[in-house]
Amino acid sequence: MTNEIWGEVRKGLLSAVGENNYAKWIEPLELKSLEGGVATFLVPTSFTGNWVSRNFGDLIQKVLTNAGQLVARVEFAVPKEQKAPKPSAPDILTKKVVTPGLGEDLPGAPLDSRFTFDSFVVGKPNELAHAAARRVAEGGPVTFNPLFLYGGVGLGKTHLMHAIAWELKKRQSDLRVVYLSAEQFMYRFVQALRDKDMIAFKQLFRSVDVLMVDDVQFIAGKDATQEEFFHTFNALVDQNKQIIVSSDRAPSEIDGIEDRIVSRLQSGLVVDLHPTNYELRLGILQQKADQFSDQFPNLEIQDGVLEFVAHRISTNVRVLEGALMRLFAFGSLVGREITMDLAQDCLADVIRASDRKITVEEIQRKVSDHYNIRLSDLIGPKRVRTFARPRQVAMYLCKQLTSRSLPEIAKRFGGRDHTTIMHGVRKIEELMQQDSQIADDLEMLRRALEA
Ligand code: ADP
Ligand code: MG
Repeated sequence: MTNEIWGEVRKGLLSAVGENNYAKWIEPLELKSLEGGVATFLVPTSFTGNWVSRNFGDLIQKVLTNAGQLVARVEFAVPKEQKAPKPSAPDILTKKVVTPGLGEDLPGAPLDSRFTFDSFVVGKPNELAHAAARRVAEGGPVTFNPLFLYGGVGLGKTHLMHAIAWELKKRQSDLRVVYLSAEQFMYRFVQALRDKDMIAFKQLFRSVDVLMVDDVQFIAGKDATQEEFFHTFNALVDQNKQIIVSSDRAPSEIDGIEDRIVSRLQSGLVVDLHPTNYELRLGILQQKADQFSDQFPNLEIQDGVLEFVAHRISTNVRVLEGALMRLFAFGSLVGREITMDLAQDCLADVIRASDRKITVEEIQRKVSDHYNIRLSDLIGPKRVRTFARPRQVAMYLCKQLTSRSLPEIAKRFGGRDHTTIMHGVRKIEELMQQDSQIADDLEMLRRALEA
């Protein structure tokens, strides 16, 4: 079944990667499983796996997602009997704990080597979450337990958790850090029940130093798993062991979880990752573009293209990365500079999908509400500061969030000249640098409009 899906989807990659690449790298891939948002492919050697992951991983994730499969991550595995011994296997539990019944591949899931603090771009929307993650990664005395990270899809929760794990291991290589998804936790638990191995299961999870459970919302409605999670959680907290949990929403908003668990989850530090803003998106794009340029040394990217992408693609970083990957794949295929035109063509569908078609009128309404002035004053001719500043804010947002030209925007601001709009936009750009109140207002308005 899985391979049928893949067989179909795979063909979609032919045009993106070219025949040679397709025959050499894509065709031999065998889809082993598709579970819990992870697509696992079998590859003959770990070299192949690394290569394909680095060069086509995002693309593969993208086509699977486009085909309606929920794929958050693509992994590559070498069939068991050929697997070379890894010097620093990600699962350190093996060394310390006997795991009868659980098999020798342990509770932890492997960590993505790309998800480190170095590669995590910090901006206003994620600075708190990042700071909290850093603190936990220092591995000092446990100050808040658990650390609860939440936020929408593709905003960097998993990235931060892996980054913590890498950092902890770098500082203290003997620390028993276990990262796994809530789904994998459940799977282990069910397996232990079936194999009548609960004692080993309990010992195993109670003997870790740091436990990270990703996407904990998954255990909603799964009573026995919740119960077990609760006990594990309490046992670890009692021993002063750090727990880090992520979810797509706040603890109190997860339906189907017992109150006592909710209150346990809230008892440490709860921080959220906000939807990305333009600046963060641009920062991430610049960083990724630098990485890609190492792989595609001859490919130029025209000024303004990254800004365009940051403006036009929504808040999900995964989608953003996919778009950039596509630009580079395209550019390298046609063998020319990535221009605005190329970007517009190549990303037309993604842009359409994330285009929420915010209108000038909507912006004007939101802004006048926000500053508590009448719409007619916002648009009208009065020049007093109380009206003029919000007016400029609205102009700025119109330029940023709609595809209207300056003259078109000018028409909707009482038929002003388009240079007035330009002036307003510049003024706000300037003020944003100096006045954090304006920057906050804009951020809030933008978020409200994009929601
Ligand atoms: P989540 O777990 O919240 O759904 P992920 O952690 O899987 O999201 O992030 C999705 C993708 O976006 C990953 O490839 C990740 O590396 C990237 N990403 C997210 N936030 C950032 C960031 N601030 N800087 C760099 N990359 C990021
Ligand atoms: Mg995740």
